[in-house]
Amino acid sequence: MASDGGLRLTVPTRASVKGGLEFVERQREWIARERARIAERAAERGDQAENDARLKAIAETQLADRCRELADKHAVPITGVQIRDQRSRWGSCSARGAISLNWRLIRMPGYVSDYVILHELMHRRQPNHSARFWTEVGKVCPEWRDAERWLRKNGRDYL
Ligand SMILES: [Zn+2]
Repeated sequence: MASDGGLRLTVPTRASVKGGLEFVERQREWIARERARIAERAAERGDQAENDARLKAIAETQLADRCRELADKHAVPITGVQIRDQRSRWGSCSARGAISLNWRLIRMPGYVSDYVILHELMHRRQPNHSARFWTEVGKVCPEWRDAERWLRKNGRDYL
């Protein structure tokens, strides 16, 4: 029984060493999981960045071509088209007639990106948002209300 008592005394020590080792082991597992999670996230961000770069390059030509095509179709004189990386707007039209479009329009349904382009083009006729401006928009883009609704509902997710 004396040796049992001796054992009993050492048990807590062993238990704590074991517990300590288990703790280290758990920490190691946790650290490994954390590292894997961080690496995975970085990879996802990388994928997103590569994907964005590819889409941006496509947008550079497709959106600019579409803008020139619609400008020709509706006889709207423009001085240039720029595809931009903007976080706050979909498009703009300078006083000189240069159209700027957000490359993210490429991700949107065609009728929505067409509407944004036509909206900017119509500012060449009416540099404001008057009733006359919306009449001009309605003539070239009868579905503009649907497109506006779509933008109000989903636009923020695309910026
Ligand atoms: Zn406008």
